[in-house]
Amino acid sequence: MKTRREFIKTAALGAAALTAGNATRLIASTGPVRKPLVVSTWSFGMPANVAAWKKLVEGERALDAIETGVRVCEGDPEVRTVGYGGYPDRDGYVTLDSCIMDETGNAGSVAFLQHIKHPVSVARKVMEETPHVMLVGEGALRFALDQGFEKENLLTPKAKASWKQWLKDGGNYEPIRPDQADHDTISMLAIDQTGDLSGCCTTSGLSYKMHGRVGDSPIIGAALFVDNEIGGACATGVGEAVIKTVGSFLVVELMRQGLSPQEACKAAVERIVNRYPEYRKVQVGFLAINKRGEAGAFAIGKGFQYAVHDETGNVLVDAEYLLG
Ligand code: ASP
Repeated sequence: MKTRREFIKTAALGAAALTAGNATRLIASTGPVRKPLVVSTWSFGMPANVAAWKKLVEGERALDAIETGVRVCEGDPEVRTVGYGGYPDRDGYVTLDSCIMDETGNAGSVAFLQHIKHPVSVARKVMEETPHVMLVGEGALRFALDQGFEKENLLTPKAKASWKQWLKDGGNYEPIRPDQADHDTISMLAIDQTGDLSGCCTTSGLSYKMHGRVGDSPIIGAALFVDNEIGGACATGVGEAVIKTVGSFLVVELMRQGLSPQEACKAAVERIVNRYPEYRKVQVGFLAINKRGEAGAFAIGKGFQYAVHDETGNVLVDAEYLLG
């Protein structure tokens, strides 16, 4: 029979020992760590992953990879729920939310930002060039312009036409159908060749939202959380549900306690619908990776997809879900 000392030695050899504060946890899986790796939300994550992957195989930091990746989506006018071409709020203004977090635990964020095509890059500047985490509205815009970002009109003719039609149809704001395509954020997580993690998310938020409404996407802990010793988690869907449960932080803490990314995302979804039954009819999806490069996701309703790029290729995966 093994002595306790021998057992601990064996366990430490067979699994990654992760130190978090005073507590040491073991992630049970063994075998080589999957790296580099990039994952992101929805089908528009596929081209974003390709851009991020290029950086990762060149040996760049996960932080550079994820910023590069989501910028593809932000700049694509056909993606109607992120950046340029995104649906406006109910008064016709395109207002953007984004945040970013690196392997050191540093974070930056912008909310209610107008006229800037790449809010993720402004969020990164907030992280790197200021002592703050979050800038909003006019102040965020002024900061972006000071940093050399260009002021642009983000409301494309297509998005404007959709908004006009929505007004004509009665202008009802009701984000209830899980399969609707009028909101969706790109959230992305990556592990680089050195094994470091970063993550970010960027969105135009719920279409036709109230002017001034800010969702989960710029809130560290809600739509995004990265702990380089444990893993990272991110979210998409109705942000109010994610904010009230501090969803991504919850997912990372559950992974710290030993749950797999998939189990942790499922537990966070269950927390939302058990605590707030009214959110059973909306969509929220969580996506997570752990330090070993295991990925998982889970959603309230059917339809959430996520893109995974590792050395075997880039695939779009249908997430499991709780309610039909
Ligand atoms: N989470 C975003 C928001 O609430 C929207 C989405 O991802 O669907 O603004």
